[in-house]
Amino acid sequence: GLADRLQNTLQKIRGKGKVTEADVKEMMREVRLALLEADVNFKVVKDFINRVKERAVGQDVMKSLTPGQQVIKVVNEELTALMGGEQSKIAVAKKPPTVVMMVGLQGAGKTTTTGKLANHLRKNHNRKPFLVAADIYRPAAIKQLETLGKQLSLPVFSLGDKVNPVEIVKQGIAKAKEEHCDYVIIDTAGRLHIDEGLMDELKDMKDAANPDEVLLVVDAMTGQDAVNVADSFNKQLDITGVVLTKLDGDTRGGAALSVKAVTNTPIKFAGMGEKLDQLEAFHPERMASRILGMGDVLTLIEKAQANVDEEKAKELQQKMKTMSFTLDDFLDQLRQIRSMGPLEDLLGMIPGANKMKGLKDAKVDEKQLVKIEAVIQSMTMKEREQPAIINASRRKRIANGSGTTVQDVNRLLKQFEDMKKMMKQMMGTGKKKKGGMKFP
Ligand code: GDP
Ligand code: MG
Repeated sequence: GLADRLQNTLQKIRGKGKVTEADVKEMMREVRLALLEADVNFKVVKDFINRVKERAVGQDVMKSLTPGQQVIKVVNEELTALMGGEQSKIAVAKKPPTVVMMVGLQGAGKTTTTGKLANHLRKNHNRKPFLVAADIYRPAAIKQLETLGKQLSLPVFSLGDKVNPVEIVKQGIAKAKEEHCDYVIIDTAGRLHIDEGLMDELKDMKDAANPDEVLLVVDAMTGQDAVNVADSFNKQLDITGVVLTKLDGDTRGGAALSVKAVTNTPIKFAGMGEKLDQLEAFHPERMASRILGMGDVLTLIEKAQANVDEEKAKELQQKMKTMSFTLDDFLDQLRQIRSMGPLEDLLGMIPGANKMKGLKDAKVDEKQLVKIEAVIQSMTMKEREQPAIINASRRKRIANGSGTTVQDVNRLLKQFEDMKKMMKQMMGTGKKKKGGMKFP
């Protein structure tokens, strides 16, 4: 899948201390293949790659301490932009009711989404929705919407399947006004493929309804096809937004990435399952992160950059290499990490950390950190630089000075020794832990 391919590619440069122009090119080749494989529109891929390349070989990225992560950040930002950047909200008519017309191919999820959207508007926006059953062709389509209405205790308007859909829409909207409902959601018919008859009828319905939103419901599983569908619906009906359904399935993600670019209309909602509460506002940034499979790694990177002085970090790397890392450096590190926020939150942002056994339930004891800080502060500079000189009487003095016990001091010294050993291993072999997040 797209996510896996991108992740493999990004993994290669994630921890890189130096990224050359050749690296970026190589990586872009991989990203390009991954996107095409995920069924993203060819032209969209081409533009995307050019934008990322341009930014990735820029001065800021190459000169930064963590160019690998910076390239990932650029890819993420451009993915987000590709999907519309900001979250796009549903229209609200100046004069109620707001009229929303659902269109799309058969099986895309129009009827289900009509119910879900009504539920969403009532639950999250305190609205009073009214449903109109205007699909007179699909057997039992009216019944299907009525069942959803019953489940939600919401009014569903229908005139059976013998009345012209244009008439149904007119009468439905009038009825909604009578009942002082503020959102009218019209479920329409689809075909297995786009045809003139379907489009003409939808155009007539649109003229009659004068909708504030024409939402195109697109099955995310259909990849490149979804984009062609979106393109022709848009040309005929001037859609105002897209609902991507079945994003809970094993989609290749291509539809999400090209629909906005091709139609120039935002994706407003995402269907995440068959149930009535499984509709979410579409957040381009979250989707980008999901595609990249990075958790909130970018937030983490940003936090790290805001808090860690680059010069200091370089110095630290050097110290770790030469094994001159002292307890004082350790204290410095601790403070920097602590200034980034609660450790538990930080752990949650590290990709893969939530999958790591033990870590998931690990409660990071902030009190323990305060204690460690106190112990180190009670040491002299010489002790911090050469912990070997800390004998029994010094341990006692440090414990007294920091309001801790000799056991606490012992434990810290042991932890520090273990950490140095680990660093030695990491630095010595030059191998990086797979999937490991490297703090700058
Ligand atoms: P319509 O022909 O466009 O009205 O499509 P329907 O609303 O009847 O939906 C077709 C099928 O897709 C139904 O089985 C729905 O339960 C299913 N479906 C709709 N939206 C989603 C979704 O977001 N996720 C999943 N997994 N299934 C969905
Ligand atoms: Mg339907």
